[in-house]
Amino acid sequence: TEFSRRLLPRPRRLLLLVNPFSGRGQAMQWCQTQILPMIKEANISYNLIQTERQNHARELIREISLPEWDGIVIVSGDGLLHEVINGLMERPDWEQAIKIPVGILPCGSGNALAGSINHNAGYDMCLRESLLLNCCFLLCRGGVRPMDVVSVTTSPPPSSNNHTAPPRRLFSFLSVAWGFVSDVDIESERYRGLGSARFTLGTLVRIASLRSYKGRLSFLPPTSCTSSPDATPPPPRRTISRSITEGLEGLCHTPIHRTCSDMGISEQRSLRLAAEEPVWSGTSSESNEREDGSLGGAERRSPTSWTWPVSERSPSPLLFATLPSPTSPSPWTKTRTRGQGPQRHRQFCLPLNLPKDDLLPPLDQPLPTRDWVTIEGDFVLVLALYQSHLGADLFAAPQARFDDGLIHLTFVRAGISRATLLRLFFAMERGTHHSVSSPYVSHVTCKAFRLQPLSTRGTLTVDGELVYGPLQAQVHPSLARLIVG
Ligand code: ADP
Ligand code: MG
Repeated sequence: TEFSRRLLPRPRRLLLLVNPFSGRGQAMQWCQTQILPMIKEANISYNLIQTERQNHARELIREISLPEWDGIVIVSGDGLLHEVINGLMERPDWEQAIKIPVGILPCGSGNALAGSINHNAGYDMCLRESLLLNCCFLLCRGGVRPMDVVSVTTSPPPSSNNHTAPPRRLFSFLSVAWGFVSDVDIESERYRGLGSARFTLGTLVRIASLRSYKGRLSFLPPTSCTSSPDATPPPPRRTISRSITEGLEGLCHTPIHRTCSDMGISEQRSLRLAAEEPVWSGTSSESNEREDGSLGGAERRSPTSWTWPVSERSPSPLLFATLPSPTSPSPWTKTRTRGQGPQRHRQFCLPLNLPKDDLLPPLDQPLPTRDWVTIEGDFVLVLALYQSHLGADLFAAPQARFDDGLIHLTFVRAGISRATLLRLFFAMERGTHHSVSSPYVSHVTCKAFRLQPLSTRGTLTVDGELVYGPLQAQVHPSLARLIVG
């Protein structure tokens, strides 16, 4: 009867995002042969969407209605989950959105998180279909655990001739790598046809032509966090509309009237405000800046009313306002000054109340000297990892847990021999590399770090995606939720 049917638990509904080109391009085939039969048997209902291009998943996740789903599952490599996490954090409702359980079914060439989930469940290290089957089983079982997310602030690309472009903020669930590891990741793209063996070949090629990179690495060890003078309690949360209104009121000297009913950000995807002084505004796309210093995303409706398109082209959820003669109030931070005399504009940006990196000063300001450790010199690699695995068969941070609130930092100084480095990578497969003793190799944990490359060589990656330095990062414990079985 209708009554008894309502007493039964309703089937879980999962949104499957499949990248048909991940790994060796087998994701759709594996869906048909392995994944969907098991999911159907587990009485899980699903919707399957194939991603059509880079950032497709990210845009989709920014838009969709989340209450319709019990979880979002990536059928790809780690790169697609990176898009999903960032899509969730770019939503105005990020605080709830990031709590939706996310899962991963490994079909990529980089399957670090799947390797970590497999290990956490007590299974032996495995690859390809075996790893997929384990992860699929754990997904069907459905247990969820909190997962740390690391907020990373990176510099704008050096190619943008605009040196005062604001830093980029992104969210990472896996790693920040510099030097050897990221070079292998980026260079081995050309061996994509080999699947995960691309990293082994890439490693051997890089060892043969070993390089070192000049840089400065600073980190904040976990024990010092409570005594840190900068660890002020986070400010009370305010709604988006209120903080924008307050920010602009401070800037304009004059009261701002709200013109939209409640600046319905979800229905209109835009904010409208009114002031008694003309104001330029726009979203934070680096590419849409105009000659006069205003932003292409801006609309100057009338001297007293203007609109912000929200998240249209914006790579990160920052709103900008440029005013003729502003004061500098918080919570706005000044990003640049343009023009001269009466034409002088100052531009401010306001993050959409994203989690504050309370352990870090702004990227262009010096770190506190107390409690921070700084190492300057020549590095072979710096690797910040927050999952146990760096690849399905790379057990790089044996102590790491999904929600330990720690960044596991490994750095290798120049001077290490090729043989020792090779031994280190082989030991990583078994997770015994911490016993490879070498004065050039260090393993520490931290809550935050800053990395300043001092030479132009060497790539920097966040979750395997290319970024630019200097960068800094802070862990936000248990921000997300992961399906671990
Ligand atoms: P792999 O581990 O094989 O690299 P990923 O999941 O990391 O697999 O995907 C690699 C990249 O492919 C991601 O950055 C993602 O944005 C991008 N991507 C997703 N869908 C597509 C698509 N249909 N075509 C091309 N690239 C895509
Ligand atoms: Mg961790």
